Amino acid sequence: MQSAWIDGDAEAAVVRYANAGRDLALRVYTTRLLGQDPRLVLHGGGNTSVKTQVTDLNGDTVEALCVKGSGWDMGTIEPAGLPAVRLAPLLKLRAREKLADEEMVRVQRANLLDPMAPNPSVEALLHAFIPHKFIDHTHSTAVLALTDQTDGEALCRDVYGTRVGYVPYLMPGFGLAKAAAEVFDSDPSVEGLILIKHGIFSFGADAREAYERMIGLVTLAEQRLAKGRKPAFVSTKLPERLARLADVAPIVRGACSLPDNKSEGGWKRFVLAFRSNDAVTNFVNGAEVARYGQAGVVTPDHNIRIKNRPVVVAAPDGRDLIGFEKLVRESVARYAEEYKAYFARNNARVGGIKTMLDPIPRVVLVPGLGLFGLGRGKKDANIAADLAEAAIATITDAEAIGRFDPLPESDLFDVEYWSLEQAKLGSSKELPLAGQIVVVTGAAGAIGSATARAFAAAGAEVALLDVDGPAALAKAKAIGGAALGIRCDVTDQTSVHDAFARIVEAFGGVDIVVSNAGAAWQGRIGEVDEAVLRQSFELNFYGHQRVAQAAVKIMRAQRTGGCLLFNVSKQAVNPGPNFGPYGLPKAATLFLVRQYAVDYGSEGIRANAVNADRVRSGLLSEEMIASRSKARGLSESDYMRGNLLGREVVAEDVAQAFLAQALALKTTADVTTVDGGNIAAALR
Ligand code: ZN
Repeated sequence: MQSAWIDGDAEAAVVRYANAGRDLALRVYTTRLLGQDPRLVLHGGGNTSVKTQVTDLNGDTVEALCVKGSGWDMGTIEPAGLPAVRLAPLLKLRAREKLADEEMVRVQRANLLDPMAPNPSVEALLHAFIPHKFIDHTHSTAVLALTDQTDGEALCRDVYGTRVGYVPYLMPGFGLAKAAAEVFDSDPSVEGLILIKHGIFSFGADAREAYERMIGLVTLAEQRLAKGRKPAFVSTKLPERLARLADVAPIVRGACSLPDNKSEGGWKRFVLAFRSNDAVTNFVNGAEVARYGQAGVVTPDHNIRIKNRPVVVAAPDGRDLIGFEKLVRESVARYAEEYKAYFARNNARVGGIKTMLDPIPRVVLVPGLGLFGLGRGKKDANIAADLAEAAIATITDAEAIGRFDPLPESDLFDVEYWSLEQAKLGSSKELPLAGQIVVVTGAAGAIGSATARAFAAAGAEVALLDVDGPAALAKAKAIGGAALGIRCDVTDQTSVHDAFARIVEAFGGVDIVVSNAGAAWQGRIGEVDEAVLRQSFELNFYGHQRVAQAAVKIMRAQRTGGCLLFNVSKQAVNPGPNFGPYGLPKAATLFLVRQYAVDYGSEGIRANAVNADRVRSGLLSEEMIASRSKARGLSESDYMRGNLLGREVVAEDVAQAFLAQALALKTTADVTTVDGGNIAAALR
């Protein structure tokens, strides 16, 4: 591992963060260097500090510890992410025999110089008790590969000798801080500390020294791992024809869903993030993956994101998806039972005070294919997948030189159910569509894009499909997050098939479809060219059918129901003159909705429609509004408000109607009218 320190960049940071002072500016610079390397730090793991003088709110200069705050990512940290805590009161704590976690948090908060600052790291006291000015802490995969061994400490002593101190495993907090300080005091010449089965600290008088000591110590671990390696895992026998990712993901996702006890027909679903590369497949294909893959996490901090271990499922046989599904469901059910037993055993040990989290795995290893990270949104799914990849790197190295031997489950449980760790995940209330995957067609138009925005705001992951690919991408980008923009022509079977495959590969499945793509054709029905009528049917009827069919196939593989929503039209029930070519396929689509409701209700798949009218959109352009209002002798405003309520209907109103239908779990075969009131178009 090379040092990434560049003098020019360091000085640029000092200029950029001039207000924070040189110490903190350089602290930000090297914290980012560490945080941007996934071999060292991932998603909230690791932390850094600097002891420096800061000015308090009264303008007085005080000695403070600026230590990484909770909720900040080291790779993108700013000075505000390293809140200053008065050092003297922290040092005073060392004399205590015991300090409860909640009290430790209170003392730390009470001594923040800025009362609005985030909570200092749970490892802040360790940083305080070691006298060095700059302190760096990482969960380096190479160091973990050495220490996560049965004889991990001996192996580390062999590599590092007396250059570092060795701290036996303890949970982060006051106890660990005291133990680490005692190890340090017994030989203050050490450059750092190895925390057995946890990670590594390095110290220095300046930012560069602490950082480069970290790089140097990690490099020694890498060099040791390069020596005397055994061959890679021996591969298990795989099916002759492996199933495709697009077929596997919905099966895995469905098996990892939980019925919602509070609402019949509702499900707690997860979004998937798929990963595959040589390192991943080498690992998951190994004949012994059930042993080394499920032994435990590589550092306890991962526990809160990916539980105590992943689930390993069967290799997917492309010729027998039904058999594969059965095996996946058995594996996940067994995992859940074992998780409940793990919880019960350990909860009894701590006095029965904890509440069990859901028993669904957050990492699924699929031999022959790769791995899935699971999360309630794509962001969390990616975090789980990142941690799984780091675990694979660590365990592969550990097994190459010995045998991976992580912490016992009692220690893993204590961290997984530690109140201070759970706090890292935040206590914010989940949005109503968290975990759900929504597809909107015609998503570049006014109604389509408003609908995609409304579903994203309700917590869903959204895929925006439009025949205008760049426009779909632009609308997706405007939504941000993981929103996907995909070119899709719903009149083309292959285009629809490919678009749904991409969505499944990106998110793992599909739960809700808003089939919205459409266009208007006109003509007096007795004289209209048949080709025009057929063209309109191709889009305004068959387009909906193709999209619904592709979605139902995925929904049935998931076995968690689903929701098909269609943009029909007032024309379906109340034909306008010369609008036959548009209204006729829309009338057929209205019955398509009912047919889906009838045929798939028993599988929990709902089908509903919205009849909207007179909405400014691609179908009702500004020129059309101008000419129609003129023809009727009305102002444009009066024309748009020509309904019972006298209100203009906008795209967002239609979007809210779709959203309401998606959330109404007991409603199917419904048509919701969004037209401001039009008795002639009202449904019986
Ligand atoms: Zn740590």
